[in-house]
Amino acid sequence: MREDLVRTEVLTMLGSEPLNRTQIAHRLGLGAATVSEHTRRLIELGYLRELAPQVAGRGRPRVPLEVVPDAAYTLGLRVHHTHLVGVLMRLNGSEVRRFTLPFDPDSEPVEQLVAVCEQALADPGTGERIRGIGLAVPGVIDPARGVVRLSPHLGWSDLPLQPLLAGRLPVPVLIDNDTRASTMAELLFGTGRDHDDFLVLAVGGGVGMGIVLGRRIHRGPDGVAGEFGHVPIDREGPPCVCGRRGCLETYAADYALAARAHARGLTSEVVEVAELHRLAAVDAPGIRDLMAEAGAALGQAAAGVVNVLAVRALTVIGESHVLWPYLERGFRPAVEGGVLSGLEIMVRPWDDSAHARGAAALVLSATVASR
Ligand SMILES: [Zn+2]
Repeated sequence: MREDLVRTEVLTMLGSEPLNRTQIAHRLGLGAATVSEHTRRLIELGYLRELAPQVAGRGRPRVPLEVVPDAAYTLGLRVHHTHLVGVLMRLNGSEVRRFTLPFDPDSEPVEQLVAVCEQALADPGTGERIRGIGLAVPGVIDPARGVVRLSPHLGWSDLPLQPLLAGRLPVPVLIDNDTRASTMAELLFGTGRDHDDFLVLAVGGGVGMGIVLGRRIHRGPDGVAGEFGHVPIDREGPPCVCGRRGCLETYAADYALAARAHARGLTSEVVEVAELHRLAAVDAPGIRDLMAEAGAALGQAAAGVVNVLAVRALTVIGESHVLWPYLERGFRPAVEGGVLSGLEIMVRPWDDSAHARGAAALVLSATVASR
């Protein structure tokens, strides 16, 4: 079941320290023959190299293996409605560089994306080492067909983005939902180090969930799994971008918090996240309660998913991270009161390159190591 990720897992595991084949087999719970086959292939590709044998006691000398970090790179792009964030990643997950560029989703977006990728590929120092390009896109994405089915933030629907880019670029291209991209980074470099099953909760312009079961990201048919923001909370609630009413997102997404603060008369207009954060920090009347209520709605819905899937870890990421301390006041009691058994909750510091790193990790797992 884990076959397609094994080589990626070997690379990322060796990215932090050299290990011999026995140690790799032990940590991944695999047989010696399987590990030998995968490491042989990775050595052939130039991605791993053998170090000097180490003799311990009277046993057979063990040969540690290490990653050759600069043997290949992957490029991850986070597509946001105002800008692109790019991360060029080494095989061990470290970054060669990152960049931010303006982006307009309404103005020939494919041409803009092709230009950015071509420029990266043409870079004299690094371009020819790029083995694949991943794009993390907000919205409902079908990664198998490479289609952006619906992205309200970008104003795109039924856009076959991956085929359009792949037809123009000389390296493999893949796209996925931004939360799932970050979930892959968590699987390879974060929560996945200690857990085979976990959830990633992303709170920002929308509310999404990455689902990892048995070290596989669950995508569902057509890639629609993880639409946590559209868990119904109240049939009579506010209208949602999906066409229904009272979805979780209409209580807890950035825009919803701002709209609810305004509707309650707590702000004189609909404000940005930064302003909501400032108001919460100075404890402006009603703001912290509003956020705790939203956090409680998130927590109650999350506890339901935790109970159904029997996961033991949940990692929070997302652009509303600045608001998280206030959301968390409602979230934690609601989750802890709702789960049947213990749950480890982790909160990642957000930075704008997170989804781009995720996209680079996706393409690492899908193209580099499995080819
Ligand atoms: Zn909805």
